[in-house]
Parts: sequence; C-alpha cells; structure tokens
Amino acid sequence: MQKRAVDIDTFMEGLVARNPGEIEFHQAVHEVATDVIPYMQKHPKYLDEQVLERLCEPDRVISFRVCWHDDDHNIRVNRGYRIQNNNAIGPYKGGLRFHPSVNQSILKFLAFEQTFKNSLTGLPMGGGKGGADFNPRGKSDPEIMRFCQSFMTELYRHVGPYTDVPAGDIGVGAREIGYMFGQYKRLTNTFSGVLTGKGLEYGGSAMRTEATGYGCVYFLIDMLEASGSSLDGKVVVISGSGNVATHAAEQSVMNGAKVITLSDSDGYIYDSDGMTKEKINWVKELKNVRRGRIKEYVNEFPSAKYIDGEKPWNVECDVALPCATQNEITIDDAKMLTKNGCIAVSEGANMPTNNDAVQHFINAKVLFGPAKAANAGGVAMSGLEMSQNSERRSWASDELSVMLREIMSGIHERCREAGTEGDYCNYAKGANIAGFKKVADAVMAFGMV
Ligand code: NDP
Repeated sequence: MQKRAVDIDTFMEGLVARNPGEIEFHQAVHEVATDVIPYMQKHPKYLDEQVLERLCEPDRVISFRVCWHDDDHNIRVNRGYRIQNNNAIGPYKGGLRFHPSVNQSILKFLAFEQTFKNSLTGLPMGGGKGGADFNPRGKSDPEIMRFCQSFMTELYRHVGPYTDVPAGDIGVGAREIGYMFGQYKRLTNTFSGVLTGKGLEYGGSAMRTEATGYGCVYFLIDMLEASGSSLDGKVVVISGSGNVATHAAEQSVMNGAKVITLSDSDGYIYDSDGMTKEKINWVKELKNVRRGRIKEYVNEFPSAKYIDGEKPWNVECDVALPCATQNEITIDDAKMLTKNGCIAVSEGANMPTNNDAVQHFINAKVLFGPAKAANAGGVAMSGLEMSQNSERRSWASDELSVMLREIMSGIHERCREAGTEGDYCNYAKGANIAGFKKVADAVMAFGMV
C-alpha cells in the first residue's frame, strides 16, 4: 500500500522519484506542500483520500512534434506540449509559452500552479499549461505564422471551449493567438471560445491585455492598504518589459508610484526620473511592434542608464515587482532588496522568487504577494472572456475593470483569511490553502478518479 504523505520530506521523496530531473516542478510542489501538508494534518480527510498526490499527477501530459518551414526553406523541428493538470472545477485553462527554455518540468510547474491560481479567482476553471521550445526572437512574421499553424494542427484535437482553453504567456501575444485561432477555426469549422487573449474583432475581451499587470498592482495596493500604507509616492522596481511588466508599470504610475526600472534577458534600464505613461507606451511599441530590446530605451530617453547583463534587484526601492520569468529573485537578491528597504513584493511572473527567497521575505515580514494570487488577474479576465464568448456578447472595458478590481480584492481577502498570523499576513500560505481547499473538495466529490 502507498504510504500516506504525513510529512513533507516523505512526500517530496516520492514526488522526486516519480518525476526525476524536473526541478522546477519539484520546486513548485514543495512550495505548496509546505503549507498544505500541515493543513491536511488538521483535516485528515484530505490525507485519507490522497488528494495532494492526485493533484501532483497531471490528468494528462501531451507532447508532440511541430515541423515548420523557415524562410530559407529549411525544415525545422520543435517540441510542443500541453499539460492538462486538473479539471475538477472547470475546463483546463492556462497559457501557452514559446521560449527555448520550455520543457516538461517548466510546463508541469506552471500547470500545477495554475490549478490553485484558477481556484483562487472564484471562477470555474481547471489548470493547464502548454507551449513549445520554439524561440520567436528574430523570426519573421511568416515564420511565426507557419509555426503557430503547425503547432495548432496537432493541439486542436486536445482542446476545445468545454475541454481546454489555452491563452498567451511568454512569447505568445495577440499575433500568435490570432494565427492559432485562425488555424483552429479552419480545422474544426467552428467559431468558438477555444482560446482567450483573442483580438477584439473576433471574440476577445477588453482589458485582457492589461489584466495581469494591473491585477498584480491591485493586489499590491490591497496588501499595502491592509497594513496601513499606500502605493502613492513609493519607488517601484520592475523586471521584464513584456505584457505583464509594462502594464504593472502603467498601473503603478496611475497610482502615484515612481517606476524606475524595466528589463529583459540582456539587462535592465534605470530611469531615475521615473517613467511616465508616455515612456511606458514607447516601451510597449518597442516590444510589440518593432520587436526591439530594452537597451534602446536610453537612446530615446538619454537621462536613463542601461546596465548590461544584470537584474534590477540591487536598485534601492520600496516595492519590487518581478514580471519576467521564474527564479529571477534568488536568496541573495532577496537579501539585497530587504537591506535596501523594500517593504513589498508582488509577483507578476510565475514563481519568480526562489523558495528560500520567499522564506526570507516572510521572515523579514515583507508583504509578499505570491504569483498564484497576485498575477491571477490575467486568467480571471480570460474567464470573463469565456463567459462573454458563451453569451455571444462583449462587455465594456469600464464594466470589466470594475470586475477585475473586485476579483483581485476577493483573492486578497481569501488569502488574508487563510494566511493571517498575528500582526502579519503570510499571503503565500493563505493562497496555497485557499486555492487547495476548493479544488480538493471538488476532487473528493467525484470519488476515486
Ligand atoms: P512577454 O513575452 O510579454 O514578456 C516576457 C518578458 O520577460 C520579456 O521582457 C523577456 O525578455 C523577459 N524574460 C523572459 N525570459 C527571461 C529570462 N530567462 N531572464 C530574464 N528576462 C526574461 O511575457 P509576459 O509578460 O506575458 O509574461 C511574463 C511572466 O508573467 C511569465 O512568468 C508569465 O508566465 C507570467 N504571466 C503572464 C500572464 C499573461 O497574461 N501574459 C498571466 C500570468 C502570468 P526577453 O525579450 O529578453 O526574453
């Protein structure tokens, strides 16, 4: 008989043995299990039913070949994936990532996290994630189109508006979603809400592009206000310069904060004057239209500096918003941030903070908004896009803005309820427990499946 997971070490030993080499997946499970196992010990029905073991074994791992022609007529081969982690509370839902680092471990961690995040939104969505080890950087538009079409030519048989509804993520924006939706429509002869993040002309939702970055800042504002502070006048350091980073910057500036950095995988820019809405719009155009690099910022705004090959975490700030990728804040970065006076971190990216760095923030009583809560605004808006598609109507952006704000406040409340310990709220723990409970109860309702 399989041993009941009564302690974290026994549990992790089993998980690592079953999933060798998948270090990001181990890391994500460890972070959740650290809070959930003590909770299950107080509520043994979850232990008896092996619920955590079941949530750590994806419903399905799909991997497939993606062949496409480059502009020189060479045949190129990539690997595509879809991880369908759990659909206990709704169809699988989660983004597609196109990046050379993509592998099964990274997508399993993302699909696992997504399951709890989607549960926290209060909307009926299960957890999934997918993508390919395809590098969009430097590819022409026709190459991107051929890749997306080939990718969807296999993926289409595994997804559907009631089965699995992918969205964008790193390297997958409006252009890629358009190409994939077009191919799905052609293959199935249906027009349905199979993808979210669609263009407004063909079933997309207003506010979807803004939602993750804005939501991350709303969560930050709620954490600050609950501790008697506010965002007004705070100095904010942000990593990344993509969708999440630029919208987090925009919403921070709209709330009176001074944003002084953005970055990409080559380095970061430091703008001591602070970024304005105009400067942020310039970055959006740089990234989305010209497909340029963040270092070009200093050519346009010469008072700023570009620091090559480094991350922005050694810059003095009140607030840090990691919005690029996983594991970008190490324990040394975390120590530097707290030494320099950082009082709050809100994660726009998925798992950007290493587990020991998270622990450092919690021990230092830094307000720490974990990704599965703080960046849930994007998937929440995707959930609202699904509702609009089902109803065959579109809601106005001001209505959706109000809904997003309410959803983020609801998530903040759920985390506070489950994570408050004396005068400090451990939001990471709160998010893990609140996210787990709903999915776990649904899993148990289905019996042994
Ligand atoms: P984009 O592709 O728009 O932007 C990604 C940004 O992160 C780019 O600036 C990119 O720089 C940088 N980046 C990527 N990989 C690395 C790396 N290894 N080291 C340093 N910088 C890196 O993606 P998004 O903004 O959509 O996503 C950012 C994060 O937010 C991801 O973790 C994603 O999972 C998460 N997220 C996104 C959601 C969404 O709605 N888009 C929803 C919830 C979470 P470069 O150009 O050099 O690669």
